[in-house]
Amino acid sequence: MSSPDTSLKAFNTLGLEINAQAVVIADTAEKIVAAWNTSQKQHQPFLVLGEGSNVLFLENFAGSVIVNAIKGIVIEEQDEAWHLHVGAGENWHRLVEHTLKKGIPGLENLALIPGMTGSAPIQNIGAYGVELKDVCHYVDVLHLTSGKTARLHRDECHFGYRDSYLSMY
Ligand SMILES: Cc1cc2nc3c(=O)[nH]c(=O)nc-3n(C[C@H](O)[C@H](O)[C@H](O)COP(=O)(O)OP(=O)(O)OC[C@H]3O[C@@H](n4cnc5c(N)ncnc54)[C@H](O)[C@@H]3O)c2cc1C
Repeated sequence: MSSPDTSLKAFNTLGLEINAQAVVIADTAEKIVAAWNTSQKQHQPFLVLGEGSNVLFLENFAGSVIVNAIKGIVIEEQDEAWHLHVGAGENWHRLVEHTLKKGIPGLENLALIPGMTGSAPIQNIGAYGVELKDVCHYVDVLHLTSGKTARLHRDECHFGYRDSYLSMY
């Protein structure tokens, strides 16, 4: 077995001196799928990370770690609400700050929760009586094997207490 050679120290918030076989910072869906295909060819485990604030590595990871760094915040103002479409790789707290600076209420109770936006629906983040499910209309998911993106409506995400359909993967 080859020894892990890529540090995950910067990719887990505890700063543990842990290594993986490969770390890929992917800012497009295509790069994530390419990393998946490579890991499949090499029969390696594959792990998607956000900021690594809710993952505790106990030992080196004998596979590929993909950091989802897809950026972008699109805000659409409609009569009854603002609609936001946010890349998974946007920091969650900075998103909350961004909306408040623009005078958009709704996310303030969820300020200061560590992690990336793409991780927020995985466990349905929540604080002070508000959960992501209260403000989330849909989650776009990338099917690694087909490379296609599908939109899951809020109901299809089966949000529960710090839980969702997405946490099964
Ligand atoms: C000090 C502290 C305070 C916290 N306070 C709260 C709180 O008040 N409320 C609350 O709900 N949570 C809280 N958390 C938990 C944490 O903020 C959430 O779990 C957050 O969503 C983790 O984001 P992350 O980007 O660091 O995820 P990571 O730790 O990187 O990943 C968490 C899990 O999600 C998966 N994942 C991450 N991104 C993706 C993706 N794009 N696609 C597929 N899978 C993905 C990972 O594989 C992993 O299983 C707290 C954590 C800490 C350390």
